[in-house]
Parts: sequence; C-alpha cells; structure tokens
Amino acid sequence: MPGIKIDKDYCKGCELCVRACPQQIISMSKDITVRGYFYARVHEPSRCIGCRICAITCPDAAIDVITNGTTFELFHY
Ligand code: SF4
Ligand code: SF4
Repeated sequence: MPGIKIDKDYCKGCELCVRACPQQIISMSKDITVRGYFYARVHEPSRCIGCRICAITCPDAAIDVITNGTTFELFHY
C-alpha cells in the first residue's frame, strides 16, 4: 500500500495538496506548527493510490511518497 509522509515543519499551510489530491484524503490540521501554520495531514491513508500529485504540487517539498518500498523525495532541498 502506498503511503505519504508530510513533514509539518516544512508545511506553510497553503492547501495546494488538499486541492490536488484526486482521492481527497488530505486535509488541514486543527492545531498549528511552531511557525504558526495549520499543516496538511492525511486523514484516510488507506485510500492513497500513490499517484504523487501531492508531492509534485507542494511548493515547499514537504511531502514524500512511498510506493512499493521506494521513497520518492521529489524535490529534496
Ligand atoms: S499520492 Fe496521490 S492519492 Fe496519495 S495522498 Fe498524494 S495526491 Fe493523494
Ligand atoms: S502543498 Fe505543501 S506547504 Fe502546502 S499545505 Fe500541502 S504540504 Fe503544506
């Protein structure tokens, strides 16, 4: 099963990944990070299809996608 990992310390709460996910399984947190942002989280990970659209969309490279044992760090700064 594919999985995604969101590093909340990189997230600035822009919600682009929330809009981009075709499965609509990403939503925003109710609490904030140390930088004062609501952050993205996966609320239904079992429905992830591993398409990586969220990771490609994130302007802050906060999302990694793990598919078939491979971690895709698309833009690792
Ligand atoms: S990999 Fe695709 S289905 Fe999974 S959370 Fe990201 S955008 Fe959604
Ligand atoms: S696209 Fe990236 S920065 Fe924007 S809410 Fe999603 S994880 Fe956070």
